[in-house]
Parts: sequence; C-alpha cells; structure tokens
Amino acid sequence: MRDLTLVLIKRKSKFASAEYASPWSLRGNYVGLTLHAGGTCAHIRRMQTEIGRDEPYFDEGAMREALCEIGRRVWMREYVASNDGNFSVRLSSDRVLATPTMVSKGFMRPEELAIVTLDGNQVSGPRPVTSELKMHLAIYRARPDVRAVVHVHPPHATAFAITRRPLPKCVLPEVEVLLGEIPMTPYETPGTHAFAEALLPYVRDHNAFLLTNHGAVTVGQDPYEAYYRMETLDQYCRILILAAHIGNWQQLDHEQVVSLLKIREKLGYRDRRLEEKDRPLCSPEVPPRRASLEDTGRSLEGCAGPRHKHEELIAEITRRVLARLRQG
Ligand SMILES: [Zn+2]
Repeated sequence: MRDLTLVLIKRKSKFASAEYASPWSLRGNYVGLTLHAGGTCAHIRRMQTEIGRDEPYFDEGAMREALCEIGRRVWMREYVASNDGNFSVRLSSDRVLATPTMVSKGFMRPEELAIVTLDGNQVSGPRPVTSELKMHLAIYRARPDVRAVVHVHPPHATAFAITRRPLPKCVLPEVEVLLGEIPMTPYETPGTHAFAEALLPYVRDHNAFLLTNHGAVTVGQDPYEAYYRMETLDQYCRILILAAHIGNWQQLDHEQVVSLLKIREKLGYRDRRLEEKDRPLCSPEVPPRRASLEDTGRSLEGCAGPRHKHEELIAEITRRVLARLRQG
C-alpha cells in the first residue's frame, strides 16, 4: 500500500489544539488522514491507535496560565536567573506544552509557550523550545503517569549538586513522605541526548532529582505537583545547610522511618526501600559534620581554602608566638 491514499476515520475526540493537524486535517466529525507515497499500513494503524487515545489530559488554556504562574513563582523565589529553567506539561498522549528558550520565566506570556510532539517536533509557538526539552520528553516516554516536569537551578539544591554531596535521608518527615529518596544523576553536557538520558536509570522510582553540577528536576501528575515538589526539595536543602551551621543533623530511627514510608505508601507513592528488605533505609549514612566539611575541602561558613591549610597556619602562628614569649 504505497500509493497516495485518503482514509477517513471517525473522529473520536475533541483535540486540545487547533494546530493538532499535521499530518492530518480535521473535517467535521472525521479526521482526514492523507497517506503519502512511502507510507505503510503500519503507519495508518499507529495513527488510528493514537486517534483513539488522544483525549486531552488538561485544558490547554488553563495549562498555559499555569506554566506562566509557575514561571513567576520560580523567578520570585530565585530558583532561576535571567532566562534559566524550563518546564512543561503533557497535554495529551502526543502533545507537550513547553516554555520557550531565551525568555525570562518570570515574564512569560501564555501565547509565548510552544507545543511539541513527544518525539520533539515543534508544532506551534513563536520561539523555539530549549534543547533541554529532550530531557522532559525522555521522562514522559519513560513514565506515562508523569504529566509535568519542572527544571530550575534553585540555589540550595544546586549547592548540593555542585558539591556532589548526596542528600541525607531520614531527616525530615515531610521529605520522606512527599519526596522519598532523591538521587543525584550523573553530569552530562546540558541539551545533549546524553543529558536527556542521564536521568532515565532513576526516573522509574523517583520524583525529584539533583543534576550533578547543574540544578534540579521534579515531576508530577500536573504542573502544580511538580512545582510544589521543587519547593519541598529546595526548602529541605536550605534547612540542611542552616543546620550544618548549628551542629549535626540527626536521623530518625528505623521504626520512625518505616511508619513514614507506610504513610507514603498509603498516599500511593512507591518506595523501593519498603520493597527491598535488605536495602538500608537511610544509607548513605549522614557523615558527621566535621568529616563532611573535610570531604568537600571547604567550610560551609564560607571560609576559603582547605581546612587543613588553616589548621597548619594556626599551629605555625601558635608555635612562633610561644617561641617569642620564651625568648622574651
Ligand atoms: Zn538547567
């Protein structure tokens, strides 16, 4: 079946976007599907299947407003500077509404957002989307339950990402229940295919991620859930940094954590720590504060230079002062 053919298929759903036409055209209650030379029956079957399941997940206008509101909030909370960050929502099985590149997310207008297909073809929008959208699309392909992705550079979470310090577990009840484990994904050059795929080994089991030497990503069933998870993540990192100024943070004990993970399970979130019985609940263990500062070679108090250099200097000054006193 390789000739030019026109097939009419009963239209099953109302499409969210008027631009949802290529390579189809909308004709009343029918979708006119033009199969060009080179097309195959498999091609038609794939499109028939997509027609049947392409009910919109969300109202497109409401989602345009939602992404602009989230843009204002991430900008106000200083999760982004300049044109940083990108977020998206999955409008239907094959349509993703995404923020444009080179626009401050604090000043975005609904008409500036773009629509792309799940395989990355932009079908509408006055500006191109960011190359980092590949990561969003990879997440949507791997996790059909995910309907929104938020990627920003919140300072407290990014501080952990650039020091490459794994986030401690079993410290705050809200974080255990709402976020669970938060992995740190390997560094890859932003915007590349390798960058898009770096998160995939972790995406099945987690909803919040630190990107090594880059920033953070959260996912959710709608844009607000993904955004709130980002707030919880950065707040947690901020509290950890503040706590490090006062003393060691303390972990909850085994029973306390199990009861939190059971609440998490009741809320419908999967947590591998309950499934894999021999897996320690709270590893990696939280290093003592002094050891953790030495690990990074720098003090969280902002004292520049490796700690051992300061200690050597203080020892040398003390030795010389004592020697002078003895002489004098
Ligand atoms: Zn980024």
